Order: sequence, then C-alpha cells, then structure tokens
Amino acid sequence: MEEKYILTLDIGTTTIRAFIYNSRAETVGKAVDQVILHYPCPGFVEINPNELWSSVISVVKKSFQNANLSAGQITAMGISTQRSTFITWSRTTGKHFHNFVTWKDLRADSLVKQWNKSYTWKLFKFSAYVLYLVSRSKRFKAGSVFKFMNTQTSLRLNWVLKNVVALRNAVQNNDAMFGTLDTWLLYKLTGQRIHMTDVSSASATGFYDPFTMQWAGWGTLLLNIPISSLPTVVDTAGEHFTSTAPDIWGHAIPIRSCMADQTASMWGSCCFDVGDIKLTMGTGTFFNINTGSAPHASVSGLYPVVGWRLGDELVYSAEGANNDTASTIKWAQNLGLFISPQETADIANSVTDTDGAFFIPAFSGLGPPYNDGTAASGFIGMKPSTTKAHLVRALLESLAFRTAQLYQCVRNETDYTFHSIRLDGGVSNNDFLAQLVSDLTGLRVERPVHVEMSSLGCAHIVGLHLGIWKSKEELKSLRKVGCVFHPRPHVKKSYEHTISMWEDAVTRMCGWYSRS
Ligand code: ADP
Repeated sequence: MEEKYILTLDIGTTTIRAFIYNSRAETVGKAVDQVILHYPCPGFVEINPNELWSSVISVVKKSFQNANLSAGQITAMGISTQRSTFITWSRTTGKHFHNFVTWKDLRADSLVKQWNKSYTWKLFKFSAYVLYLVSRSKRFKAGSVFKFMNTQTSLRLNWVLKNVVALRNAVQNNDAMFGTLDTWLLYKLTGQRIHMTDVSSASATGFYDPFTMQWAGWGTLLLNIPISSLPTVVDTAGEHFTSTAPDIWGHAIPIRSCMADQTASMWGSCCFDVGDIKLTMGTGTFFNINTGSAPHASVSGLYPVVGWRLGDELVYSAEGANNDTASTIKWAQNLGLFISPQETADIANSVTDTDGAFFIPAFSGLGPPYNDGTAASGFIGMKPSTTKAHLVRALLESLAFRTAQLYQCVRNETDYTFHSIRLDGGVSNNDFLAQLVSDLTGLRVERPVHVEMSSLGCAHIVGLHLGIWKSKEELKSLRKVGCVFHPRPHVKKSYEHTISMWEDAVTRMCGWYSRS
C-alpha cells in the first residue's frame, strides 16, 4: 500500500514548526523557524504578517527537503496556531491594516481595567446573575463572573477599531475583514478563497459564546465589533478548509483541519475522555481538562473553551493559564541568571532550598485563583546569602506552585477522579519542574518522548479524518510516553510552609499596578 504523509504546521509564540508524519505517526521530516516578535512601544507585542508568511513558506519547504518529499506526495495537512492573536485586512485589496496584535500584547490594558470597573459591565453581569437565579442556566452563571483579560481578543480589537484610521474607514465601507492567526493563514494559503475559523480558535477570542456556539451579541453591541467582518465558524476538521493554492509549494495540498494550539495538544496527548488532563508548558502554561459535552461554568476563573467540534461530537475544556512560563525563563536568562534554559534543572537541584527567596511570575498578571491583571512580578525575600542558584530554584518553584494552584481550582470545582497529567511543551523538558508538579499535585506526570504535542495532535485529527487511523483508541495505542514522574508525598509535606509563605508573597504583589 502506498505510504500516506501528513504535513502539520504549528505556529506557536516563539516557534513555527512544520512536521511530516507517516501512517505510523512517526516524524519523517521537520523544520523549525523562530517567530519574530516586534515591540514597537512598551506593552505592544506584534508579528509582521509579511515576515510570518515568508517563514511559513520556507519552513514548510525545508520540512519537505528534510523528509525528501515533494508537496505532491503529501496526502493532507493540518494547522494549529497560537490563539487570540489577530489581524484585520481589506476585503478588496487583501492588504493588512496593522501588524498582528498578539495574545501577549498589553495595549488594551487600560480598556480592560475600565471595562471591568464600568457600570455598564457591572450591570451586564448583574443581569446575568439575576437570570441565573431565575433559570439556573450555566450560561448566565458564567456571564455573571466573566472578566475581560488582555489575553482575550475582544478589547485589543476594540483598541484597533478606535485607533487605526484606515481600519475605521474600512469598517464604514464594509471593507474590513477580521481574523485570528488561523483565519488569516487559511485566507492566504487558499489563495484568498475562504474566511473561516474553527470553534476552538473562535472560543479563545473572548467574544464567541461557547454556550450558544455563536459570536456573542454583546461584542457587536458594546465593543462595536462589526459582525460582517467576522469569519464563519466551522468544525475542527473537514473538507471545508479546501486546499492550498498550487503555486505556494508547487502542488495543492488538501487542508483537513485547523485548530487552536491547546486543542491540538489535547489531541496529541490523547485527552479524549472526560477528566483527562494535559499540561502544556511553553511560552505560557496551559492546564486543560476535558469536560465533555458541557462547558464548565467556573467560579474561580477557569476559562470555558471549546475543545473541538467534529459533526455531532462537541467537546469542551476548562482551562487555567499562567501566561509567563518560558517567557519568565527567557527573562531570567537575559538577566544573566544562567546561560541556557536546559541547565536550570541542575542549577535548582544544586541547592536544597531557595534560602527564603520567592518569585512571583506575573509579567502578564495572574490567572485563577487570583484573576488579577494588576499583579506585579518579582523576587522577594532575598538576603546577603542568596545566590543565583537560589533565585533559579525560586523561579522554577513558582512555576510549579502556579500549576498546583490551577489544579486545585479544578479539584474544588469538579468531582472527577484524576490519575495523571500529560505534559508537553518546551519547558516540560525540565525534570526539576516536572517532578515538582507531580509532587505537589499528587498525580503521576507523564512526559512523551517528543514534547511537540500540538504538531502530533494535528496529525492525529487529520489522520482520523482521512481514515489512516480508525479510532481514538487506535491513536491512544500509538502514544509514546518517555518519562514518568511519580508523586513523593513527603516532598509535598515539606513544601507546605514554603507554599504558604509564597502565597503570602503573592498576595502582597496583587493589585500592585492599580495603586499607581
Ligand atoms: P511555544 O509553543 O509557546 O512557542 P515551546 O513549547 O516551543 O513554546 O517552548 C519553547 C521554550 O521552552 C523555549 O523558550 C525554551 O527555552 C524552553 N525550554 C526548552 N527546554 C527547557 C528546559 N529544559 N528547561 C526550561 N525551559 C526549557
């Protein structure tokens, strides 16, 4: 039988990866490029679409060379992208009105604060609460605790709608198109034929209602988001994505799936069953639990996202995020605390504790259970005896403490029985961190042989759609776990006092920027 090859294109925050898999889900070719981030002024984090497009074209070409294959030999491709990063462009010329505004961008910070404090929004939430009391509907319960965040697209889009004159004019002339990164990529790859996003990427914008599975009416009403500029929301896999324009790589490649990176890594880690947990530690930490066919209406701020939709199968996920993981490590590397991230585990293990120093990882605020966009980052409790090794250990410990907090939120709000956490993402290569997450959650932590789960997840969903793999059970049988970390109860006990000190330190950092 002729071998089948699946191309996956995964656009993260730091890297663009193109992988080619065979029908045994083995990697036969790959190429990686860096995403170039631009910081035109404080708080702005952008990607230039022309630079991204050139990288996409070249990284895929390199993966073909690496696999010794041509575009014509690829059976189909799947795409996964960072979420909530967006762009707008002209319907008539295809030209963008501004660079991509990424999920790390803080330009709308004052809008976020204003909206969360505003009487309009408080009234909206109060009405949702009253409706919840009357109807007991989870949708209204979720509405009554909803908070704006910089990571959602909504207020960053509202900011560009107010501040980019060319876009404002285009909106008036019905010439504006909006797209998250996946939407724009599909538009470009298909030769401007489609304007789509899948349910998982739509739900990460913050103005797609996961309960009604439609763009939220309040987005248009309160934030002036023009409904005619929004993409059609489609299933996560299917023929609707059509195929790449033949001139891009010399042959049309059928696109059979497109989804958010966290959905892709759930698929890579085979989190198909209710209660399955995956923990991605990349630029940020994303803790996702499969909540089945019902969105989880959280009280502690876990975000209810759509996992995927494939025909009748609609799966939701509750998500807790800590937005500063690899980015915190990168910051400490730039400060000169260590040479390479790979050595941080050994450095942390070279001391028995942090000598009383703590780190609070809050460059983009703090997620659940704090939900505080005004929290400050920093070290606290340093002494004359504090060494670089203590600081590195404090930094890694803080990442594990945040993860344990996210897990505790899930425990408090659900009654699933959890057995293990499936790790992925670049930072999950860190043994110190992986072991500490296991110790503090009391769960077995499984790290796959290759940590690029979003690429593999794309391949899984495309392969299932094509019939290369027959079922999710077959996909589970292909999973390759490389390392298992077992919880050590005595270590958890020994951390009790440290964690309570750290929590105290976090409370002191909360609300810091609202004071100035
Ligand atoms: P993203 O998908 O968000 O672009 P990745 O999952 O590719 O990010 O993670 C890349 C990050 O992982 C890099 O910043 C790298 O420094 C970090 N990393 C890789 N190995 C380690 C390690 N052993 N310890 C800590 N960080 C690591």
